[in-house]
Amino acid sequence: MNRFKNMVNERHEYAKAWQKRTGGKVMGWFEPYFPEEIAYAAGVLPVRILSRHEPNDTADKWIYASCYAVRDMVNQFLKGRYGYIDGLASVEGCQWMYDAFEVTANNFPHLFNHFIFVPDYTDAPTSVDVARSELDVFKSRLEEWTGQEITNEALDHAIDVYNTNRRLLRRIYELRRAKNTVILGSEAMNIVLADQLMDKAEMNKILEAFIPELEDRPPREDMIRLMLLGSETFDTELEELAESLGANIVIDELDSGSSYFWNETYTQKDRLTALSLRYLGRPHNPIKDNNWRRRPQHIFELSEDYHVDGAIIAKQIYCHLHGTDNYVVWKLLRERNIPFHFFERDMTLPAEDTEVRLEAFLNMIRPGLTHLAGWHKVFGGREALI
Ligand code: SF4
Repeated sequence: MNRFKNMVNERHEYAKAWQKRTGGKVMGWFEPYFPEEIAYAAGVLPVRILSRHEPNDTADKWIYASCYAVRDMVNQFLKGRYGYIDGLASVEGCQWMYDAFEVTANNFPHLFNHFIFVPDYTDAPTSVDVARSELDVFKSRLEEWTGQEITNEALDHAIDVYNTNRRLLRRIYELRRAKNTVILGSEAMNIVLADQLMDKAEMNKILEAFIPELEDRPPREDMIRLMLLGSETFDTELEELAESLGANIVIDELDSGSSYFWNETYTQKDRLTALSLRYLGRPHNPIKDNNWRRRPQHIFELSEDYHVDGAIIAKQIYCHLHGTDNYVVWKLLRERNIPFHFFERDMTLPAEDTEVRLEAFLNMIRPGLTHLAGWHKVFGGREALI
């Protein structure tokens, strides 16, 4: 299991070794709607730009009113941690993430860069056509950059590798549904984070060997089952803290977690249309809108499927997108009688403060949970909003 955590910590070394081994280019991407398959089909390694806890003494000069995830990403570039990257790409989404892309592209003009417009309103009658034409432009620019044509065969291969990867991650998430699940939330999150940094074909081989090992693990003693919602995070401190307090995050609805791999691409004759449909149809997050507000329904289905006892909503400070969307999320959780705890964080989790809050929340819900040995009292108030 440590290999996944190490992979996240040593992501730069991995990408550099990949570059040396294959002679290929590495492209950093910023937004979750980025169509990785097209870059992969061009022989490029797409890696998600993740923030990292490091004193941030560079980014405020360029970008000051954003969430800390974005500032940390810019800091990483300005400190030279991504010195090996050959290109950058981003997609229409959060304004702050766009700023990270723009500041980085402007500071490193030698890098290939490309911005893809994906409609904010994902279900409009013209959305698929607009997205498809944008993917076509991206494909042409990649062909120009790499000097090689992206054939249908290459796209088919990339789609197949990515779909296989999504199915493997879904198998791991399936294990989390079980009572006495064999996997901890921190372990699952490390796998998904590592996945976003690696060559998917290589990751698939690792996962194919690892999943049977996981399935053979003895079941764990049952813990309080939590769902994690909110802004993306790129570490597992919160999961580990919950585990130290007797709770297990059994499902998340994060862009850096389940939403990254939840839906597949359904192949069709026009590969770019298939990819447009896949990305427009991914689980929604607050950076996009749609006719039917799929996000609350998706959260509710996850809470049912994974038998959660409660939810944690962890929002990045200054993330106005999740701040705005919280209204519908809170409404849903209240209506469905799912206790939840909301708090704001920056990239570095304030450990002591968070521990006190989380412990108080768990102490409030624990007495009502009959699946935990020794607790049979019914707890009246089901909500804890601190
Ligand atoms: S955490 Fe919020 S503000 Fe920050 S990049 Fe994500 S969506 Fe944007």
